[in-house]
Parts: sequence; structure tokens; C-alpha cells
Amino acid sequence: MRAPPAEQHALLELQAHDSVIDRLNHRRGALPEDVRLAELTKALATVDQLAAERDGSLATVRREQSRLEDEVDMVSRKARSEEQRAVSGKVTSPKELTAIQEEVAALKRRQGVLEDELLERMEQRETLEADQAELASRRERIAADEAEATKARDAALVEIDRDLDAERAARDALVPKVGEELRALYDQVRAKQGGVGAAALVGNTCQGCRVSISALELAAIRKRPADEVKRCENCRRILVVE
Ligand SMILES: [Zn+2]
Repeated sequence: MRAPPAEQHALLELQAHDSVIDRLNHRRGALPEDVRLAELTKALATVDQLAAERDGSLATVRREQSRLEDEVDMVSRKARSEEQRAVSGKVTSPKELTAIQEEVAALKRRQGVLEDELLERMEQRETLEADQAELASRRERIAADEAEATKARDAALVEIDRDLDAERAARDALVPKVGEELRALYDQVRAKQGGVGAAALVGNTCQGCRVSISALELAAIRKRPADEVKRCENCRRILVVE
């Protein structure tokens, strides 16, 4: 294949822009800000899960608390009315009075047990409510971090996209300077060789694979016409003689 040296040198420039574009695209897809955002999203989900569990427990404890309050109320009312009946004078039989006193004592014992349980529930409720408050403030902090990380990510993207636009414009301007045939070969080699299709020969080293070219091969390359498209004997990339 033949291509004027100016075209071959334009191809090297094109390669330089393509390499920068590849690097920018890679950076765009591997932003540390995106990693941070993913972590924060996971942390938020964890906090929400914990909060939902606490909500469930709290609803149960509140239900139990109100049931116990009702029961305490009922038992204490029953005890009061029995006491009133005993002192009303309407009950005269000593046997019946003793039975009432025993009933009142049993009701008060029951009330004591219920009140202990109620106290326990109130303590559980307090602990759960404190947990929830802590989770809410933790969630707030994470959400604030997430907002900040989103802002940082967006700023990084804007910067990368601006650089990409500039590189693409510079690349587009170069394209007409490289013949179609040479470009097709370049694209083909570039696809096979990790994004580098053309490399300069600097001294005796191919800048594509960094392998030194033998003195014999180097002499042969130098002897060939300047408009002949050369390939590196090692990596097969288009070799542009400086
Ligand atoms: Zn090479």
C-alpha cells in the first residue's frame, strides 16, 4: 500500500486523538464518583430496610401497649367497683365480704403483673423510637452525601464530555487528510491491537509494541520508498517512519 508521508503523519495524529478519546471514554465508564454513588445507594437501602423493621416492631409494641393499658383499666375498674360494693353496706354476709376482699386482692395482683408488662413495653417503645431517630438522622446524612456525590459525578462528566467534544472535533478535522484505504487498514489493525493501529518508529523502536527492530530490518525499512506503508514486523501495526 502506498500513501504520501504527509498522510502517514496525519494518521499518527489521528491515532493520538483516538487514543485520548479511548482513554476519556474509559474514564467516563469508570468514574470513582460512580463507585461512591453505588456505595451510598446501597447504604441507603440498608438504612431503609432497618427502618422498615423497626417500624414493624414499633407497631407491634404500640398495639401491645394499648392492649395492656385497656386491660389495666378494666382490672382496676373492676377492683374499684368490688371495693365500693364491699363498703356500700349492701353486702352483709361476712362470707360474701371475705370473698369480695379475696377477689379485690386477686384483681390487684393481676393489675400489678399487667403494669409490669406495660412498663416493659414502654421501655421497648422508647428504645425503638430512639433507634428510629438515629436511623432517620443517619439516612439524612447519607442522602446529603449522595446529593454531593451526584453533583461531583455530574461535574466530572461535564469535564470529560467537554474534552471528548474537543478531541472528536480535532479528529474529524484530520480524517480528510488520511486516504480512505489507509484509514481502513488503520481501523482494522486498531480493532485487533487494543486501540493502537499506527505507531511511530523512533530510533529502532516501534512505539506500538516497544520492541526494537533488528538492524537488518531497520536498514530494509529505511531503504524502502517514503510513500510505502510499512508494518512493524513484531506487532503488525502501521509503522510510520519519522
Ligand atoms: Zn510494533
